[in-house]
Amino acid sequence: MTEFISTFITIMSQYPWLFVCISFIFAATIGSFLNVVIHRLPVMMKREWQSECNFYLTEYHPDIVEQVGEQRLAKPIDAFPVKYNLIVPGSACPKCKASIKPWHNLPVLGWLILKGQCASCKTAISARYPVMEFITGVMVATLAFYFGPTTQFLFAAILTFFLVALTGIDLDEMLLPDQLTLPLLWLGLLINLQGVFTSSSDALIGAAAGYLSLWSVFWLFKLATGKEGMGYGDFKLMAVFGAWLGWQMLPLIILLSSLVGAIMGITMIATKKLHAGKPIPFGPYIAIAGWIALIWGHDIINWYLSTLI
Ligand SMILES: [Zn+2]
Repeated sequence: MTEFISTFITIMSQYPWLFVCISFIFAATIGSFLNVVIHRLPVMMKREWQSECNFYLTEYHPDIVEQVGEQRLAKPIDAFPVKYNLIVPGSACPKCKASIKPWHNLPVLGWLILKGQCASCKTAISARYPVMEFITGVMVATLAFYFGPTTQFLFAAILTFFLVALTGIDLDEMLLPDQLTLPLLWLGLLINLQGVFTSSSDALIGAAAGYLSLWSVFWLFKLATGKEGMGYGDFKLMAVFGAWLGWQMLPLIILLSSLVGAIMGITMIATKKLHAGKPIPFGPYIAIAGWIALIWGHDIINWYLSTLI
């Protein structure tokens, strides 16, 4: 196995463009699974909350249960089957329940073969699925180009997969699940014990400083305006980037995320997609900014410092 890996790395170092192409195909395939995560994880979380809520009410407020009637409390959250996780049940058309054939699950191509419709009932399949697969592929291909077949590439790709899932869920549900942010946080601290992206002390300080920086902005904003502009998931995501890239990258990430937010905001106003008072998730901006810092952070900071002299 180790021999196979070292041969693979040798070949890939000789043919960097082959490595970029393989990375694209591999990542687009994972992107297909990330679509499932984005769709199902929030549903799984809501079911979990409802069952906890039912347990609490029946355990501690039997009077409420009687008032409401047990049938209503026991009612499942929606029409999803009893066993429901990231693997089971298999993908199926939401309309006619026809199961999705393996070749239709091919990243991007599957959707093109089907011409964006269900094979049996011709219901339109959202273009969002192939788009997510394509974006995931391009992001990891970019990592392959910059990092080559290295340990840094491997972990940067894992980080990218998590960021794609987090961004999708935050856009849909205004939520950054702990199930995704916390493992990333621990992983960042652990890999930097070996100094993969930064020293382990910079990673540790980064995790704490990342969390506290947005946490203090949140409370200052809340005390000043009485409004909440961010959620605790945003603080955890910033802690993730502190843990992965070190505290030195945090000012750049905060700056870039505001910049990305401003660009998106202007675009949405221009295309009239922004409705007044509608909350906008902040997580995607942090994710995009952190991802840019992952690849170009050192270059940007060096360029900035060189302009100061
Ligand atoms: Zn169908």
